[in-house]
Amino acid sequence: MTVKVGIPRGLLYYKYYTLWVTFFKHLGAEVILSRPTNKNILNNGTKNSVDDACIPVKVYHGHVLDLKDKVDYIFIPRIMGLKKGEYICPKFCGLPEMIKYSLDDLPEIIDTKIDFTKNIRKLNKTIYKIGSYVCNDPKKIKYAYELALLKYNQHKNQVKKGYIPHDARQPKDYLKSELETDQKKIMIMAHPYIIYDNYLNMNVINKVRDAGLEVITPDMLHDDLINDSAKRYDGKLFWTFAKHLIGTSLNIVDKKDVDGVIYISSFGCGIDSVVAETAERRIRNHTTIPYMLMTLDEHSGEAGFNTRLEAFIDMIKFKDELMNKNKNQNDKELNTTDDHYHQGSSQVDYEQVSLER
Ligand code: SF4
Repeated sequence: MTVKVGIPRGLLYYKYYTLWVTFFKHLGAEVILSRPTNKNILNNGTKNSVDDACIPVKVYHGHVLDLKDKVDYIFIPRIMGLKKGEYICPKFCGLPEMIKYSLDDLPEIIDTKIDFTKNIRKLNKTIYKIGSYVCNDPKKIKYAYELALLKYNQHKNQVKKGYIPHDARQPKDYLKSELETDQKKIMIMAHPYIIYDNYLNMNVINKVRDAGLEVITPDMLHDDLINDSAKRYDGKLFWTFAKHLIGTSLNIVDKKDVDGVIYISSFGCGIDSVVAETAERRIRNHTTIPYMLMTLDEHSGEAGFNTRLEAFIDMIKFKDELMNKNKNQNDKELNTTDDHYHQGSSQVDYEQVSLER
């Protein structure tokens, strides 16, 4: 009988979707994703998690409940680290416990400890441990992981070219037309599980696109660029997510190549409370790029969100019109001065000529 592995559509699903789905599928498992976030998932998650958790963690609880009766296993790895010398938010290290103690009657949880900062031998052992929930053939597990890694890197490269992860999974013809644009660019800064969860972020990507602007995200910047920019921060950045977002904001300060920045932070997130303020201060003090901070929790209303977003987009468009208007005005004034100057200079010439006579 085919083993059914459930993957909750929350938190690092948005980063490692391609890796884990490809891996389990190639081991022969049926992969079942929880449904995209909706009102029920959010409400169930909020009801069944601790009060002071951030909204992405609450929603994650809702996704686990959505899979509860549909699968043999739920994949909730304990992620210990993503990059060498850096730390990840402690919520990821304790996620399996948090889920087990908050939710009852769950199927078995694949809660293997994963530390991407460890050497390849240790990582291979971890992968074998995860794979053995589905099959016992080490060669097959190794092959499935190598293939998954290849797909993951291909997907990551597509995102670096400027595709939103959802778009990067579309057929190639669609992809070509999407990038041919000279629209104004809005950088949306947030954790990946906020940027790419359309319910949680109140569909911000599509709203910005519908207004005729292009969306870019920190994932589209090359890691080297972000790391170089992050080096200019006074002090060492130990937290992977903080480094990524502060590096992005410093890169914006350097390049000034976006027309607006929207930071979507999560209420109750310690990392966001520091990063959002740092990003705002740097961008406001060193550029004229409009910046807007939106803070989300489970009580955030879409009407208020839309009003602020529309006003922000109007302001970006208006800023351009205003600058064009000022430029035209200046050009006009310059032309008038030039005419005056030319008239004056011909008079002088005439007088000089007259005098010579
Ligand atoms: S980084 Fe912030 S938003 Fe993300 S899980 Fe941790 S507390 Fe929640």
